[in-house]
This record gives sequence, structure tokens and C-alpha cells, in this order.
Amino acid sequence: MAGHPRSEPRLTDPTEPETAEKHDFIREIVRRDLADGVYKSVVTRFPPEPNGYLHIGHAKSICLNFQIAAEFGGRCHLRFDDTNPTKEEEEYIEAIQRDVRWLGFDWGDHLHLTSDYFEQLFDWAIHLIEAGKAYVDDLSADEIRTYRGTLTEPGRDSPYRDRPVAESVDLFRRMRAGEFGDGEKVLRAKVDMASGNINLRDPVLYRVIHAAHPRTGSTWCIYPTYDFAHGQSDAIESITHSLCTLEFEDHRPLYDWFLDNLPVTARPRQYEFARLNLSYTVLSKRLLIQLVQEGHVEGWDDPRMPTIAGLRRRGVPPEAIRQFIASIGVAKANSVVDVAMLNHAIREVLNKKALRRMAVMRPLKVVIENFPEDQTDMLEAVNNPEDASAGVREVPFSREIYVERDDFMEHPPKKFFRLSPGREVRLRYAYFITCTDVIKNEAGEVVELHCTYDPATRGGNAPDGRKVKATLHWVSVAHAKPVEARLYDHLFSRPDPGADGPVLEDINPDALEVVRDCQAEPAVAETPADQPIQFERLGYFMPDPDSTTDLPVFNRTVGLRDGWARAQAKGKGAG
Ligand code: ATP
Ligand code: MG
Repeated sequence: MAGHPRSEPRLTDPTEPETAEKHDFIREIVRRDLADGVYKSVVTRFPPEPNGYLHIGHAKSICLNFQIAAEFGGRCHLRFDDTNPTKEEEEYIEAIQRDVRWLGFDWGDHLHLTSDYFEQLFDWAIHLIEAGKAYVDDLSADEIRTYRGTLTEPGRDSPYRDRPVAESVDLFRRMRAGEFGDGEKVLRAKVDMASGNINLRDPVLYRVIHAAHPRTGSTWCIYPTYDFAHGQSDAIESITHSLCTLEFEDHRPLYDWFLDNLPVTARPRQYEFARLNLSYTVLSKRLLIQLVQEGHVEGWDDPRMPTIAGLRRRGVPPEAIRQFIASIGVAKANSVVDVAMLNHAIREVLNKKALRRMAVMRPLKVVIENFPEDQTDMLEAVNNPEDASAGVREVPFSREIYVERDDFMEHPPKKFFRLSPGREVRLRYAYFITCTDVIKNEAGEVVELHCTYDPATRGGNAPDGRKVKATLHWVSVAHAKPVEARLYDHLFSRPDPGADGPVLEDINPDALEVVRDCQAEPAVAETPADQPIQFERLGYFMPDPDSTTDLPVFNRTVGLRDGWARAQAKGKGAG
């Protein structure tokens, strides 16, 4: 078969443009359908239920649906599958639109809601009853479950299965009119109680739910199930390829059954692909809601969250998400993708976009004894070595600077090449300095270093060609701006949360580290809200909305070391 599904995720060449032609089994189907004239143009949809925020798993579905529409000259709808008023909220409807747009996609005029089709769906339910293919059942939810049978045992008919058509029509209308309480009656399709596919054992089409709906208010007190609403909504919108995740594979016969038995004017087809799972996190809306509601995180946009809003706040660019999704491909085998792959894509994009700046996370003061007291040198520094158009800036240098506490060791082991007594190192863009003295407090802790500098090394090179083994970042004390840095680790402490006990017990208590007294070069204070920054040697950072004029706050999006690239290089036998 053409377009044989790939089961192993493949990493595309990061230099491959985002527009490179994509190949997978779904695109092969679309290509063939268009070539064979099955459809004139392709229409897809992304159908979130507005009962939570979108996560990176949804991004896979969003990219697939919107990109296929774009690649084949069709269109993609955004449809809210709002059939369960007890869990759905207007806040989610707005957040989902914001997130899809931010990911770079546009549904044009095609923003739809399943609730817009409630009247049509009701009529179609009546149509099925009148055709003898649906009935009102008085069994309770528990009884229905018992009657349904198991994988090995056929189901049993409900005693109401053969109630007269007219009676079912009347009861169904009275269900709508509000004559019955929640759970008292349901409408079921009359398919096959002995089917090997449990989904076909007279599935429920409508249930009574006396709850206000975010859009239709109290107009309805009966609501269609996902199964009854989804395919028909696809048909109403003339969707051609209805793409969903594998757990719906067993629902496809039912999807087709409704379309075969209703006077619909379009004939969509459902295709299933594997959901995205990511290591060290969870992509289940139920669990994400729990994390938010129980206060395990600060909210839906907490940068620890795998939500689109969380990733955005952490500083992940939308291109990186699209690049990541492209790199994992689309297949039919479920798998867990290594989060290192996402981080790799993030670094690839940020490396090109981020302005380089210097900040010291855990400051240690250094006095340069032979540097004049009231002198400030303005030293030129490149803003982005990957992008000449980003230009240069001047960084002030003076007699007192901060360096990173970790960059000094009084008694260094063999492989430590940074600052220690008597050792010469380079200060980035500035000078060579040599440590001459270590000042300690009463507790014996190092509180200050004294150094000398070599004025001939301005810019960071010695005219006599002598070498140093380390280059440190630094910030001038007199010019330093305080900033807060928020450092993130995985939300869960194991790659497969919940595999070995309750999932919430695997939450990583150290997923957020707040570093309060960082010191940054002055240019940092002018960072626009959406400008990614690389603090040299520390990682990629993004301003957080919690920033104030006095204290800018930066989220570390990702560190600089690329575990994924290193593993790939090793795997390829580079050594
Ligand atoms: P629920 O837990 O409520 O079923 P869901 O995660 O399936 O939630 P929906 O709002 O129903 O969320 O999903 C919208 C679309 O996104 C569906 O087509 C679904 O198949 C797809 N989707 C959801 N999660 C993933 C995932 N992890 N990977 C790929 N697609 C996904
Ligand atoms: Mg779902």
C-alpha cells in the first residue's frame, strides 16, 4: 500500500524548511481521493470539546487538519464539540481560539459549534425513531451497562426496545419538553445487541441533562452524545476527511451507520491516527484539569504545563511546536515521544531568534584592582551570532563586576578550568582577568574575589597569543539590573507518570525553581514582552507577564545543552 504508516518517529533535518512536502498515510489518502475525483476539494476540521485548554497533543491534530487543508487547497473548520453542558465553559471556547491562532492557523468564516446543529440533530433523531431505528429506553444507566454484555458475552435487548414508534416519538418529544429528570430516559439507536463491537449495541443518542449550556442556555434539557453528534456535524459541514485519534477506530462503524441511515447530503469519512504522548508529562485533559483545580500548578498557563498556553508563557515559539509536530510524523502506532525532541526543536528555533544577553544567576562580586575607580568601558557585543541583522550593542564594564558563583572554585579539581586563585580566564567581550585574592566572611564562605585585568586583552584576545581555557559571562555591578529567573524542570519526575502508582504522586516537587537575585546587563531591562533572550551560558529565556518595571521576570524556556542532538549523534556512530 502506498504511504505505508511509519511507526517510529523520525526527526526531520532541522534545516528542512517548514514548507517541505509532508508524506504520511493520511496525506496519501487525501492525495488519492482528490486524484480519483472522490472529492473536489478537501475539508477538514479540528473539533475540540471546550472542557479544558489545548495541550501539545492537540497541536498534532491542529497541525494535521489545518496543514492538510492548506497543502491541498481546501479549508479547515474549527468546531466546538459542545454537547456536554456540565463540563464546558465559555472561558475554554475563547482560550482554544487564541491558542489555535497563536499556533499560526486560521479557520476563516468557519467557526462552528455542534450546539448550532441541535435542532437538526433532534430532527434526525426523530427520523431514526420513525424509521424504527431508535427508541426511548427507560432503563437506568446501570441497567443499560449490565444489559450491554461484555467483550465475550452478547448483550440483551432492553424490554423497551420494541416499544411502538409512536410511543417513542411522543416520549422523546416529552424528554425535550422537560418532563423527565436526569437519567430517567434515554434515546438509543436500534443497531445490534449481539454485535462483536460493543459500540453498536444500541448506543445512547440522547440523554436528559438539566443544566444550562454556555451557548444555548436553558433551551435544551436533552443533549446528543458524541457519537450521535460528531459524524452528522461533519456531514452538515461537508467535511471530507474526519481525522481523529485511534481510540475512535471502534466507533467508525457507528459513525458510518448514522450516515447510512440519515438523509445527509455529504459523506465524510473517518480516519484514525496515533495520539501524541510525551515523556515526563501527561496529555489527558482530565488530569490537566485536576492539576489546575487542585492547585498543583498555578493555572492553565503555568509554564510547567504541557498546554499551549503554558508552552507559550514559557517562551516556546509556535514555529518550534510546528517543527516538532512535523518531525514526529503521523502514523497508526501509539508511542511515547521523548520530550528531548521537543526541546531540540525549541532550541533550533530560538537559536536563530534569541538576542544574546548576559545575566548572572548567582552573583559573586569581583573587584578588578587595577581598573580605574571611575572608569566605564563600553564594550561591543554581538546580539545574535546566527543573525547579523540583529546588530551589536554596548555592554558597560567597570571595576566591580559579578560573575557566576559556580564559575569559581577555591580548590579546583583537575578538569575545572574556570576561575580559581592564580588562574587567568576570559570575560566575554571584555578582558582577561587573573584571580589574586579570595575574601571570605566569618563563616568561611567566599564573598568576594579580587582580580587584576590585562588592558591589552580588550575584546577578549591577547596580542601575544596566550590562551585561556574558559570564558565567563559577567555583569558590571554599577550598571546591573536585578531580575528574577524562573527555572523549570519536568512536571513529573518519571518519563511515564502513573505507570507505577497514582499519577499525582509522580509530580516533580522541584519542577519550579525561583532565583530571585539575578543581575543582568542594562539592555535586559528593555526586553519587549515577546522577545526571546539567550542569557549566555544559561539558556533561553522569555519575559513573564508577572514582570514589573522594578523587577523583570524571566522564564527559562529551555537550557542550552541538547540531550536529543547528542543522543542522535551517538546513535549515528559519530564516535
Ligand atoms: P477528552 O479527554 O475530553 O476526550 P481529548 O483530549 O480527546 O479530550 P478533544 O477536545 O475531544 O480532547 O480533542 C479534540 C481533538 O484533538 C480530537 O480530534 C482528538 O482526537 C485530538 N487529540 C486529543 N488529544 C490528542 C493527542 N494527544 N494527540 C493527538 N490528537 C489529540
Ligand atoms: Mg475527546
